[in-house]
Amino acid sequence: MGNNRNVVWHHTSVTREDREGLLQQKGVVLWFTGLSGSGKSTIANAVEKTLLQGGRPTYLLDGDNIRHGLNKDLGFTIGDRQENIRRIAEVSKLFVDAGIITLTAFISPLRQDRHDVRQLLGDRFIEIFMDCSLEVCESRDPKGLYKKARTGEIKNFTGIDSPYEKPINPEITVGTDKQSVEDCAGDIVKYLSQKGFIG
Ligand code: ADP
Repeated sequence: MGNNRNVVWHHTSVTREDREGLLQQKGVVLWFTGLSGSGKSTIANAVEKTLLQGGRPTYLLDGDNIRHGLNKDLGFTIGDRQENIRRIAEVSKLFVDAGIITLTAFISPLRQDRHDVRQLLGDRFIEIFMDCSLEVCESRDPKGLYKKARTGEIKNFTGIDSPYEKPINPEITVGTDKQSVEDCAGDIVKYLSQKGFIG
């Protein structure tokens, strides 16, 4: 870790509350977690589209895209997965500070890692569990990754030879193997409204 002794935090004159007042919404992170193929990207995209149509500024941090840029130096070992999540959480925190409804679509398989994100973001963290059986995820296999994991071409694949720890007490659970995309997205937007994140 770097030496931060001479780095001090600067307080800015424009605050999160100022920005939120302007945007008429609260900065928040919708943290989608679930197996590959459980629908994180699909539902996050649907939610973002609905919010955008309602005039809400949003931003979607998608796992695969982030791994092309900010996190392209990271692989899929436990340590690299942890660092992946830590960086995403810090970036999310900046977006929340900007007053943006931020959506993240990462498998984020470990409870401890998600707990750390919750600690960092406090009441601006909404954990959304994509409840979908491994069988259904594997039958969807939108990127052909399960097939490769089964033949051993990909190692450390979540659900196959790497663990996925289900959330114990997520704010929202959507059953993507039972509910339609529209219903799942609708539940999430409704939650934001009920909790006062959007007016
Ligand atoms: P992830 O981001 O979790 O890896 P994706 O969103 O990329 O998952 O893939 C999920 C796949 O399942 C997509 O091909 C999507 O069209 C399909 N699908 C079918 N029904 C649903 C549903 N109810 N919710 C989400 N995805 C669904």
